[in-house]
Amino acid sequence: MMPTVSDICTKEIVSINIKSTISDAIKLMTEKNVRSVLITEEDCKNYFIFTTNNAIEYKIKNLSLDTKLNELNLPKIQKIDANVSVLEITNKDDLISEYFIVLDQGKVVGILSQTDIINNIDPQMLLQKQTISSIMLQYTVQTVYENEATINAIKIMKNEDVDSVIIIDDERKPLGIFTTKDFLNIVSETADFTLPIKKYMSSPLETLPKDVKIYEALRFIRTKHFKRLIVTDENDKIAGVITQQELLRLINNKWMEVIRDRGLELSKINDELMKKTSLLEATASQDFLTKLYNRRKFDTLLQYEIEQINRYQGREMSMIIIDIDNFKSINDTYGHDVGDEILKELAEILTKLSRNSDVVSRWGGEEFALNLTHTAIEDALFVAEKLRATIERHTFSNNLKITCSFGVSQFRTTDKANDLFKRADKALYEAKNTGKNKVVLERL
Ligand code: GH3
Ligand code: MG
Ligand code: MG
Repeated sequence: MMPTVSDICTKEIVSINIKSTISDAIKLMTEKNVRSVLITEEDCKNYFIFTTNNAIEYKIKNLSLDTKLNELNLPKIQKIDANVSVLEITNKDDLISEYFIVLDQGKVVGILSQTDIINNIDPQMLLQKQTISSIMLQYTVQTVYENEATINAIKIMKNEDVDSVIIIDDERKPLGIFTTKDFLNIVSETADFTLPIKKYMSSPLETLPKDVKIYEALRFIRTKHFKRLIVTDENDKIAGVITQQELLRLINNKWMEVIRDRGLELSKINDELMKKTSLLEATASQDFLTKLYNRRKFDTLLQYEIEQINRYQGREMSMIIIDIDNFKSINDTYGHDVGDEILKELAEILTKLSRNSDVVSRWGGEEFALNLTHTAIEDALFVAEKLRATIERHTFSNNLKITCSFGVSQFRTTDKANDLFKRADKALYEAKNTGKNKVVLERL
């Protein structure tokens, strides 16, 4: 089963009231070590997200850190239903949006980020063979030299809308990285942004060679909690950067391929199954549990027998309906499986004690019907009484004893199948009402 949004979303939400300031938000984010906070309004109508990228933006605009969040004109974040499947969400055009607020019946239950999705896809399922380099070319890397001013790096992040720059040496070998998170760590100090970026970058830089398989890359990004992959070529120079968002998009494409192929396969199998099922249904004559004839087959045979009688006058036929007494209490006391065992055993007894020409069937749950051909009601009474006594004496599995009630009827020339049955059922009803464990004949 594909997980749903509510299975994978982040449920511990760090939130802040919209009337707080940028400074409050940054402080909270540093304190809780998160890259974003949920901004809530008093009336809970809309939700916003304040991220490290926002912090950068306002720093560059030279906005005072005392500015209130509700003055920032932040975009509302999209709401998403908790029951949407992860596949559906990766298939959304607006996957670009980094966050969703997850609602279950109008209540906020979490925040869904791209990281959550990344962490919950099965890389083994796909991407076994493709290497990172096969998907790399599209993506450009933003780099700055180690001695450039920090503000340059920040401006590049802002202008190119990336959340990291790579710091390189004169030979273009990667030395470190400067991310929005690094920015966050220094923004509230009195950092000097004219100093070389190498002072503030994170290093060393963990990279992956470009011939690494995509699923390995995915595992790497997960275990390290990185938001992006820095990929190097055979000379250890930067070959490219892949963000988790780009990885996601790629995985989604792959996913769709797999699902489409599997879907075709499955729908073929499904068609076959449907055909077989309807064939089975049409021809089924056996009760699954007891292996006796089922009601459908019983009806067919009875119909046939009635036609025979009508054609060759003078034949007789009787019906016995059997219902286990107080069977519900057996189920209630010993469980349904024990009940099933008894039904099977009883079916065996009925089969053993009846003649070859008798039709024994499971009529319903714990009801059985016998059609005795060439048998008048006196003889049917004798058969029923023999069955009743045998069942009463028999010890069933689990050392259980049961009894049954019996209704018996005889075919009349004007009868339809249902008439015969109705009279036997009425007799059975009387047996039940007058103490059970007895045979009652229809009123002649
Ligand atoms: P009564 O003496 O009036 O016939 O009482 P009863 O409890 O046997 O009759 P009732 O019709 O109230 O309940 C029949 C019960 O038979 C209900 C159900 O628990 C049980 N039953 C029906 N079909 C099956 C089955 O396939 N397996 C099992 N284990 N129990 C069944
Ligand atoms: Mg019953
Ligand atoms: Mg019963």
